[in-house]
Amino acid sequence: MSAIELRGVTKSWPGTVAVDNVSFNVEEGSFVVLLGPSGCGKSTTLRMIAGLEDVSEGAVFINGEDMTSATPAERRVSMVFQSYAIFPHLNVRENILFGLKVRKVQAAEQEERLAHVANLVGLTDLLDRRPAQLSGGQRQRVALARAIIAENPICLMDEPLSNLDAKLRHEMRVELRALQRRLGMTVVYVTHDQTEAMSMADQVILMHAGRIEQVGTPDDLYDRPATTFTASFIGTPPMNLITLASGRSGAVIAGTNRAVIAGKDGEGRILGIRPEHIGIELAGKTGRRTKAKIKGIPARVTSCDYLGADTVVTATCGDQLVLIRAPGRCPLEEGELIGLAWSNEDVHVFSAETNQLMPEAKALRVAA
Ligand code: ADP
Ligand code: MG
Repeated sequence: MSAIELRGVTKSWPGTVAVDNVSFNVEEGSFVVLLGPSGCGKSTTLRMIAGLEDVSEGAVFINGEDMTSATPAERRVSMVFQSYAIFPHLNVRENILFGLKVRKVQAAEQEERLAHVANLVGLTDLLDRRPAQLSGGQRQRVALARAIIAENPICLMDEPLSNLDAKLRHEMRVELRALQRRLGMTVVYVTHDQTEAMSMADQVILMHAGRIEQVGTPDDLYDRPATTFTASFIGTPPMNLITLASGRSGAVIAGTNRAVIAGKDGEGRILGIRPEHIGIELAGKTGRRTKAKIKGIPARVTSCDYLGADTVVTATCGDQLVLIRAPGRCPLEEGELIGLAWSNEDVHVFSAETNQLMPEAKALRVAA
């Protein structure tokens, strides 16, 4: 039995279908991320699970029970929002205990649970402070503590870390994941940030325009994108999606003459290759003249962004722009001629018509 199940859930408002026939399961104790660009229906989906929004069609099951028309309280799920939604006039202790007070939990039990949860999220020494006296990360921990203390086995989180700076966000990701594992919570976590999804999720549900684009582990989405949308959404910099033209010996990148897919059926295909899977060959000087001899597919460097651990090189290859991720510092000059090489198992072939992966289509190795 799944902790949460959505069956054919649709949410429409006059003129908008925010969520369109969405079905998925969330296993108990797992961390599931709803990922997708802004406006794709993530928050609406989460709010329908919480009962904060009615569903137009379909059903929501929690622990096997049809909860489609249950109130939020009956569903016994906690929710953490991007805006921490903590009370500015209450101190940390009062904020965390708010829900237990409303439910008239006994004072001794409140204190016991408070001590435990405050310790878990590292707020023990800050219980008397007001929100204004806390950092963003500390405030977010208060919101988290309030969700945890409710002891609901299911916790829904809507972009809970997006107000934090990059360093803190990273720390909180690790903390949150550790906490979720330790407490065995079932978490549905909404984010538009693919790095967050990749680093935290057991399962990613990638949404696009109200529908599910692909569901899988982070590895599935990264290594086996089923569509060009997934291919370009997962990974930074994104996968190169190169439109091909027919050449004499097969499909080529227009403006170059080396076949990248054999045979005549390369037209109408898109070649997907990740920036980290492209090797760079430097032009060697050969023979009597200094005419550069290039191995691989010739390309010209347009820019190099040095990022510390690696360098992102932008180059024009035929009529296409290609990104290459090279390890360390890659000392290339603007305008320099380079050769691009890759191995056929790193290439993904998509249909230009449907944008779907064509698993049977075989790419050629482009040797250096
Ligand atoms: P996300 O969280 O992925 O950014 P949302 O679920 O908030 O997306 O919104 C999905 C779509 O539904 C958007 O087009 C948004 O404008 C629309 N929408 C959200 N809430 C409402 C509402 N209360 N009334 C009408 N349209 C809404
Ligand atoms: Mg949202």
